[in-house]
Amino acid sequence: MRQENDSRPLPTPDSQELRELVTDVETRAVYRVLYDSRENPLEMAAIRERVKALSGKSNLQMDRRLRSLRTHFDVPAQRIPGKANSFAYPLLGWNPDADQRTARKSIPASTRALVHHTYGNRCAACGRTPKDDQVKLVIDHMVPLDLGGTNDAENLQLLCVEDNHAKQALFADYQEHSAALRESLGLPEVHMRIGELLKAMPGEEVPKELIVLVAREENHGDPTKRMRELRSLGWVIENSQRKKGRRVLSFYQLKHWEPWPPEGPQAAVAALERARRRAKRLRER
Ligand SMILES: [Zn+2]
Repeated sequence: MRQENDSRPLPTPDSQELRELVTDVETRAVYRVLYDSRENPLEMAAIRERVKALSGKSNLQMDRRLRSLRTHFDVPAQRIPGKANSFAYPLLGWNPDADQRTARKSIPASTRALVHHTYGNRCAACGRTPKDDQVKLVIDHMVPLDLGGTNDAENLQLLCVEDNHAKQALFADYQEHSAALRESLGLPEVHMRIGELLKAMPGEEVPKELIVLVAREENHGDPTKRMRELRSLGWVIENSQRKKGRRVLSFYQLKHWEPWPPEGPQAAVAALERARRRAKRLRER
């Protein structure tokens, strides 16, 4: 006997609710196909074909996308009677076991108001405002819900629609690294969070935004100082910049890393800093 489903209606494929729950565009395309075929659930090959047609992409990694949808929704594999090894995938409802932490709860009006106030009605990325620049602002989860982010005010910021889309596109590009992102986010020290993410993406140019995300720092924005500190521990990290439209994108690439010092990177960096200051004082005597 299946457990009773959460009785909330399913989000429609175009809803903001779904966009906030599932940040990756292709995964949302899979959802759309499942949603549209609720009456006549499809086999995986048919789902893949439709998603391919919707997204224009061929390498779809359907298993992973289905797995990611299943964290929120109930999508069992149902044996098709009379056909050996054939399964259909009906979208039955919300996943009754869904982690409550990531379950979409609407952001209370008071929290929305607080976020608008905190950000001075300004896009956190480009600084434009609805009044002066006619941009529309949306509330963005700094750490996306599907990476364990919350609806708490500390995890919310204002972005213009353009920057919000750019962020979603960026996360979609790095969807395959979401496990590494989640793991890095859980580490106790900022250098470890950044360093372990770089190690999980060897040889890749890691965009600054992902570094900022895992750094989880108050003054979110500039990881330059942390990179310098990692270099002081013997790490070799290259930085590169590329223009894309009106944006300048910044990337970090790990070339060499050192094991974490036993006392932890934070303590090691502080000790190096003290030694440096002492040496400077001696020189100046
Ligand atoms: Zn903006």
